[in-house]
Amino acid sequence: MAVQQRRNSKTRKAKRRTHFKLQAPALVKCPSCGEYKLSHRACPNCGHK
Ligand SMILES: [Zn+2]
Repeated sequence: MAVQQRRNSKTRKAKRRTHFKLQAPALVKCPSCGEYKLSHRACPNCGHK
């Protein structure tokens, strides 16, 4: 297994982490009852998929 030779600098770490940021959940309106639900999930209100 490869062994890390030196510690990453703060800058390197920060540059890597620019790519993972918080993302709001994709809410869509249910076509059947109009409630907001997560896309690609069954509606928690009416069960429509
Ligand atoms: Zn619904």
